[in-house]
Amino acid sequence: MDFFDDDDQDEKMPVYDPIRREHLWVLLAAFRVDPTVVHPDNAQLLTNEDLLNTAGPGCYYCEIEWRDQALAMAPCTGPDD
Ligand SMILES: [Zn+2]
Repeated sequence: MDFFDDDDQDEKMPVYDPIRREHLWVLLAAFRVDPTVVHPDNAQLLTNEDLLNTAGPGCYYCEIEWRDQALAMAPCTGPDD
């Protein structure tokens, strides 16, 4: 299994709607975890103390970084594919 390209990770992501053209703003976070005490499905052990880095917010569909409210309200161009 390729850890970062697991197809199951996409199951909760809403599908882009080309009629509504709404961005899906997301923030990525990296936490330090001890694999001997934490299971990937148990987010309760992800504490602020273990937060190492964040990226975004950015749109999951068009991959543009959030800059201001005007951009947030502009129509999303959707994914490239
Ligand atoms: Zn977008």
